[in-house]
Amino acid sequence: MGVSRSEELFRRAQAVIPGGMNSPVRAFRSVGGSPLFFVSGKGAELTDADGNTYIDFIESWGPHILGHSHPRIIKALQTQAERATSFGAPTESEIELAELICDLVPSVEMVRLVNSGTEATMSAVRLARAYTHREKIIKFEGCYHGHGDSFLIKAGSGLMTLGVPSSPGVTEGTAKDTLSARYNDITSVQELIRDNENQIAAIIVEPIAGNMGVVPPKKDFLRSLRELCDENDIILIFDEVISGFRAALGGAQQLYNVMPDLTTLGKIIGGGLPVGAYGGKKELMQLVAPNGPVYQAGTLSGNPLAVAGGIETLKILRDENPYEALEAKGKSLEDSFNEIIQQNHIPARVNRVGSLLTLFFASEPVVDYDTALKCDTQKFAAFFHGMLDRGIYLPPSQFEAIFISAAHTQGQLEHTRIAAREALQSIR
Ligand code: PMP
Repeated sequence: MGVSRSEELFRRAQAVIPGGMNSPVRAFRSVGGSPLFFVSGKGAELTDADGNTYIDFIESWGPHILGHSHPRIIKALQTQAERATSFGAPTESEIELAELICDLVPSVEMVRLVNSGTEATMSAVRLARAYTHREKIIKFEGCYHGHGDSFLIKAGSGLMTLGVPSSPGVTEGTAKDTLSARYNDITSVQELIRDNENQIAAIIVEPIAGNMGVVPPKKDFLRSLRELCDENDIILIFDEVISGFRAALGGAQQLYNVMPDLTTLGKIIGGGLPVGAYGGKKELMQLVAPNGPVYQAGTLSGNPLAVAGGIETLKILRDENPYEALEAKGKSLEDSFNEIIQQNHIPARVNRVGSLLTLFFASEPVVDYDTALKCDTQKFAAFFHGMLDRGIYLPPSQFEAIFISAAHTQGQLEHTRIAAREALQSIR
C-alpha cells in the first residue's frame, strides 16, 4: 500500500503542529512508522490520503458507535448548519440533549454540557471539592480522565505510550492533592482514605478502564467503592467518557447497577462533534453557576451543531438498541483472537466488555496498571503493522481499546479474523 501522500502531509504537519498531531494518541510513536492522514469515512471503512481503505477499529476513539457518516446524523448536521452554527445564547436543542441524557443515564438528574471529556472531569472534580469542602481526590493508576492538571498522575494510554508517568508543568501543589490507588484493589483505596481522614473530596474512576487497554472492574469493585464513598462522605465520580452509551444504553452504571454521584460523559454524546457533559444528583448540580457559586462556563458549550449530532446519535441508540448486536460482534472478535492465540501458542490474552476490547501481549491476566505494563509492546507493534498492511486500522498503542461499531459487518469481522491469523502467525 502506498502512503506517500500521508508521509508528505506528516512532514508538512510537523513544521507547524507539535509532533504533527493535535492529540498525541494519534502518533505512531510506540509502534513506529508514519501516521496515516484520512480524508473520508463511511460505516466502518476509512479512506486515507493515498486512496487506501481500511476497516476502522478506532471510531475516532469511541464517538462513532454507529459508524462514520451515518445518514441520519449527517442530515441533522446539515439541517442545523443551514440555520446557524452558534448563538452564545440558549437553544431548545440543548434541552433536548440534556433530557435524553437525564432519561437514559440512570443516576443523572441534571446535566451541564461542555466541549470535551477533559472539561467534564475537571468541572466534576471542582464541584465535588466545593460540595465537600475538601481538596484531595483519589484516582486509579492507569485511568485517564483527560489532560486536566489534577489527573496527569499515572494517567494511562497516551502517557504510558510515551513512557511519561506524569507531566512536567503540573505543579507539586496540584499533584499532592491527587492520590493514586490501584485499579481493582479496594484495599489500596481503604488505606488512602484511612491515611487522609476527612480530606478526600472525590474518587474518580473509569468504571470500565479503557486507557491502559480494556480492564474490566472485578466483581464488587465498583460496589465497594460506592460503599466506601457512602461511609466517608466522598463523592463518587464515574468517568463514563468511553463507557457512556457504549457499555449499555445507560452506560457502565446500568450494566453493573452501581450508581455514582456524578457522571462524566463525552465522545458518543456528540456523535463525532465536540461535546462533553457532567451530571448527577440535583443537589450537587444546583451548585453550578449561575445557580450556585461553582464557576464553569464555555463560549461554545451546548453548541447547536454539536448538540444536533449528539441528539440524533442518542435517539438512534435509544430506538434501535444495538447493544445485543454489539455484544455479539465483540464476542465474535474475541473468539477469533482467542482461537488464533491458542492454536499458535501465542502469549496473549483478550480483555473485553461488549464492544470494547484489547488484545494484550501478556502471559498473565491484565487486571491493573502494573499487569498492563508487563505487556510485550514490541510484539504489539509488529501485530499493529501486520494488521495495517492487511487493511485493518487498530489503535496504534497496546494500551488502548479496540472499538467495534454497529456498522461493522460480518464480512468485515471475517476479514479482520483472517488478517489477525496471518499477522499473529508471522510474529509468533
Ligand atoms: N475520560 C476518559 C475515560 C477518556 O477516555 C478521555 C479521552 N479519551 C477523557 C476523559 C478526555 O476526553 P477528551 O479527549 O474529550 O478531552
